[in-house]
Amino acid sequence: MITVAEALAILRKACSAGPVETAPLREGAGRVLARDVRADVAWPPFDTSAMDGYAVRLEDFAPGKGAIAERPGFVGAGDKPPAPLSPAEAVRIMTGAPVPAGTEAIVPVEKVRRENGTVTALVTPSAGEHIRRRGESVAAGALLLSRGRRLTPSDIALAALAGAEPLHVFRRPRVWIAVTGNELVPASEKPGPGQLRDSNGPMLEALCRAHGAEAVSRPAVPDEDSAVRRLFARAAEDADVLITSGGVSAGDLDLLPAEAERAGFEILFHGVAMRPGKPIALGRRGGTLWFGLPGNPVSTCVCFHLFARFALDALAGAEPAGPSFVSARLARAMTIRGRRETYSDARLSVVDGQARAEPIQSRGSHDLAAYAGANALIRVPLGTQILPEGALVDCLILGDPL
Ligand code: AMP
Ligand code: MG
Repeated sequence: MITVAEALAILRKACSAGPVETAPLREGAGRVLARDVRADVAWPPFDTSAMDGYAVRLEDFAPGKGAIAERPGFVGAGDKPPAPLSPAEAVRIMTGAPVPAGTEAIVPVEKVRRENGTVTALVTPSAGEHIRRRGESVAAGALLLSRGRRLTPSDIALAALAGAEPLHVFRRPRVWIAVTGNELVPASEKPGPGQLRDSNGPMLEALCRAHGAEAVSRPAVPDEDSAVRRLFARAAEDADVLITSGGVSAGDLDLLPAEAERAGFEILFHGVAMRPGKPIALGRRGGTLWFGLPGNPVSTCVCFHLFARFALDALAGAEPAGPSFVSARLARAMTIRGRRETYSDARLSVVDGQARAEPIQSRGSHDLAAYAGANALIRVPLGTQILPEGALVDCLILGDPL
């Protein structure tokens, strides 16, 4: 059986970024840039006042220097650049307004005395105080956002500043989700004897959306050759990824890998030395990837975070694609059963400035209630049996990257 690292390497080779399209800036958060964004203007675009106050020259304006003339009127935000400062002159100016040439400081209104068309300094201003210089944040032509970046709301602000409307982004991966199992009923129904509610379908849909994909849920598939065959035959006529849950283990009703192969999918792997999630399968037919995730809800979720999420990033053109780990101190000793790389539910927090991972007591890969309290997975390497309290462990954060 292959290792997680080997499986990820196979997956990495099977994924490439989708086509490029445009998207309105306002809908760009969470999308992945297909082109660099450069500043076509400097920011700030001109020398700007950071306060409501007076534009002055330093040699004219200090306590004890007496009153100087106030230019009539004021300069406001949006006004054209005013005439240069004359010697012994103060210009009333508002936040965001262009400063007159020759200005050496802006003195806030509350730091001057104003009477009879003159102003007197109450404080000594320092050079450049409260002036935002043209280009001090961004030089014209600077690279602001690189291709491959998944845009945050503050990136959207930066892109707007650079006039990147519309954005050039990679198409969102389109995902079909299908749960399998004779035992499943929808969440809206009361389960009968031997039945249980489908929780994987809604979870996978939410996970795909949270990770920037377009997700469509297909009707649940019973454990019958013909139904499974139909799913794979139609699968992904217009989807990049098919994600299924269930039916990939070694039971009599685990029909998916054989049917996938029969439908023309090349099986890239089936079975990974990990816990939970060992039966996971990955297939490919043309431009469509199939993730056969095991049905136990925690396995489904762990496999999503480790593999499917990686693929959604890579197909969306995001860099770097794939799982990234943070290191944290273990809050409690852990004993590991079995000999596979293990992913264990944990609560990650910062205590006294240090990342701390608290393992969550779980009854197994069906224990959704325990899992729902987790915000990270602790990775326990192959061959580890005991991890003492305080050990440094790698954690995969389950939160969204958006
Ligand atoms: P399977 O991988 O098909 O053998 O499924 C393993 C177990 O996972 C089943 O016995 C169910 O208890 C559970 N399971 C499978 N599919 C789902 C689902 N869609 N929602 C919740 N639990 C599921
Ligand atoms: Mg099943």
